Amino acid sequence: MTRYGMLIDTTNCIGCFACRTACQRQNGQDPEVDYIRYEERETGTLPFVHHETVPLQCMHCEDAPCVHVCPTGASYIAEGGVVKVDESKCIGCRYCMAACPYQVRVHNKVSGAVEKCKFCHAWVYEHPETPSNTCVTACVTGCRIFGDLDDPNSELSRAIVEKNALPIAGDLTKAKIFYVR
Ligand code: SF4
Ligand code: SF4
Repeated sequence: MTRYGMLIDTTNCIGCFACRTACQRQNGQDPEVDYIRYEERETGTLPFVHHETVPLQCMHCEDAPCVHVCPTGASYIAEGGVVKVDESKCIGCRYCMAACPYQVRVHNKVSGAVEKCKFCHAWVYEHPETPSNTCVTACVTGCRIFGDLDDPNSELSRAIVEKNALPIAGDLTKAKIFYVR
């Protein structure tokens, strides 16, 4: 089985927003609609302050609260463990937006449906031998790695072990994006 996931190394993230811009272009979005948001975090005290930019997007949780609360089955877990939204079934109730602990779902005012990162599913399924994501290829510092969590020899699995990467909220939702911080 393939279980898609990602690693984001925030120690290399320079906060240039190239990943979000590429994602918006790929998905034909207006500038105010985005599947990637950023949290700016500071730790320490002056003059030893550490600044960190943390990109956040759908974590494709295995235990996904958005899927649990969706009353119509519009939110579901698809092939490869990718959490998706069937817009034809979405009634725009936004229960999923309230349930997502990471606040990464967006309401499309035009369609009335809720959207989010799809892990570039169409491209990934059509190119299983070289799966990649728009945000991964757009990142200027190479802080993103996409791949199969169930393959212990994938670049992703090896990097998670080598860098001791962890989901941002621990075991809360069995998220499939791992962070180096
Ligand atoms: Fe659902 Fe939010 Fe988890 Fe994505 S990150 S699967 S939208 S709960
Ligand atoms: Fe499901 Fe759509 Fe309601 Fe979200 S807004 S819970 S996807 S019906």
